[in-house]
Amino acid sequence: MKRFIEGHTGELFDLLIVGGGISGACVAYEAASRGLKVALVEKADIGGATSAATSKMIHGGMRYLANREFGLVRESLRERRILTNIAPNFVQPTPFITAFYDGAMPAWLVKMGMVLYDVLSYDKGWLWDQSRKMPLHKTLHREGLLELVPDANRKGLQDLNFLYYDCLSHSAERFTLAFIKSAMKYGAKVANYAEVEEFILEPDGEGRRGVAGGIVRDLIHNRSHQVRAKLTVICAGPWSDLVVNTILGTNVKHLRRSEGIHIVAEQLLEEIAFTISVGEGDRILILPYRDHTLIGLTDKEYSGHPDDWAVTGESIRELLEIVNRTYGNGKRLEYRDVLYAYGGLRPLTDVSSADVRKASRRYEISDLSEKGVEGVVVVEGGKWTTSRGLAEKVVDRILDIPTLRGRPSRTSKEYLVGCEIHNMAKFILEKQAKYRDEFTPHQVAYLVKSYGTLIDDVMKFSAQDPAWIQPLNPDGETLGQVIYAIRKEMAYHLDDILLRRTGIGLLGYPGDEVMNLVAKAAARELGWDDQRLKTEIDSATKLMKLPD
Ligand SMILES: Cc1cc2nc3c(=O)[nH]c(=O)nc-3n(C[C@H](O)[C@H](O)[C@H](O)COP(=O)(O)OP(=O)(O)OC[C@H]3O[C@@H](n4cnc5c(N)ncnc54)[C@H](O)[C@@H]3O)c2cc1C
Repeated sequence: MKRFIEGHTGELFDLLIVGGGISGACVAYEAASRGLKVALVEKADIGGATSAATSKMIHGGMRYLANREFGLVRESLRERRILTNIAPNFVQPTPFITAFYDGAMPAWLVKMGMVLYDVLSYDKGWLWDQSRKMPLHKTLHREGLLELVPDANRKGLQDLNFLYYDCLSHSAERFTLAFIKSAMKYGAKVANYAEVEEFILEPDGEGRRGVAGGIVRDLIHNRSHQVRAKLTVICAGPWSDLVVNTILGTNVKHLRRSEGIHIVAEQLLEEIAFTISVGEGDRILILPYRDHTLIGLTDKEYSGHPDDWAVTGESIRELLEIVNRTYGNGKRLEYRDVLYAYGGLRPLTDVSSADVRKASRRYEISDLSEKGVEGVVVVEGGKWTTSRGLAEKVVDRILDIPTLRGRPSRTSKEYLVGCEIHNMAKFILEKQAKYRDEFTPHQVAYLVKSYGTLIDDVMKFSAQDPAWIQPLNPDGETLGQVIYAIRKEMAYHLDDILLRRTGIGLLGYPGDEVMNLVAKAAARELGWDDQRLKTEIDSATKLMKLPD
């Protein structure tokens, strides 16, 4: 993977995509695979904003049934199946137990919701790898639930609870990267650390104003370039209204932003996800993650600038307070038990709900022609799970424009790059046998999920130097993967390596020894002097350690 912006010679693209989160990545893949000439620019790292902030759920969204959003749930369940097919290493079918306490919805209503969820996922058996088929839901009585989740609160637990299946993503960060790699396979040009600072506005043939691309600042080399395109697609997540304001010269806020955070702690439950409905719209998720537990999730309106948002000590304490009230049966989780915290801002297009927790997670695709500007499509809202389907709709709409021609969609029918695995269980066993001298079976399984079929490439690369193949953590991540991230996966900063290309920093600060090894290897590769090395270590450390 190479950034195109530094060698950009002024070619005209069909599409300029602003934003390299999952929406932009999917639009780039969809458009390039249908024959369009695509450029995508991202002002920070690929998939580093909202798209890395998720609860890692690839899901229908059971709770949206309560809002009667049947269309959204059906679309999400369809996309869940498609993602399970095209990216088997990233999508993990997982048993979910959902508990209901006194004061929650009546049991008969919840039962109806469960039946409806099964009905709406009628196609869940249409899988390329039949071994990954997910069963229908089951009723779980109080005692059965407590056997599986011994630390669930007893008080007020109803007798009727449920076990059903949904999916978790192994790594939302590398999954987004796989969409980018797939777009690049079809010729898309991509650059991270490339920010659209302003738009090129020109009169179109009929005397209206039209966007003809953008002025893109290459933030690595501090140079600006004109990137011209027939159409510009804004996929800027929680920044999208600000980007639209740049085009229109206005200062209008039409998007709501809701903050959500998660914490990571030692393992509370093995390979089972547990969800609890709490009061009005709140919900606690206790999810398995790399032999640890991922706990979420807050949902609170945020009115500041998205660039200024960060996890705060106060938001962690608020989440802990809800968790301790809801789970643990008296065993408390303290601030010192939190290993890592992360989150982001949900861009919400639903401005009518009084409470952001009840606001719809649907997406919207619009243009600015009513505002007098042609040549722009704006994509807002949505879920990680529905992004591929969203991209299909965006490109269908784009291909109605007479000057843009393309083929029918193929993104639901092809594996993503690195994901060409027909039988996941068999593939893991084969690789465990192949790499048994260097890695434990657990480590190989983790690496297969991270790299898919590229595992052989990564292993061959790492074998160049004995120091590169030594596991740095229990999941088998190595210095070889660090260097691979820089040379082959467009990593430029230490946090790109620690938080997005590998998961070395995603369980919290990895310790001084690992941090120094990784940082010094990155400094050698990227030619950092001592001052730059210190800045990189400081800013990555700030992201991995908890705020006070
Ligand atoms: C706390 C939380 C939990 C969630 N959990 C789930 C979940 O479990 N499952 C699920 O399906 N969905 C989940 N979601 C929703 C999901 O994360 C989002 O729908 C999705 O990530 C949105 O992706 P995006 O590409 O639109 O936005 P982003 O990922 O934010 O991407 C937008 C990008 O645009 C870039 N950008 C902005 N301005 C410019 C510019 N001028 N030039 C260049 N680039 C620019 C930004 O840097 C950013 O990277 C969750 C969201 C949150 C906040």
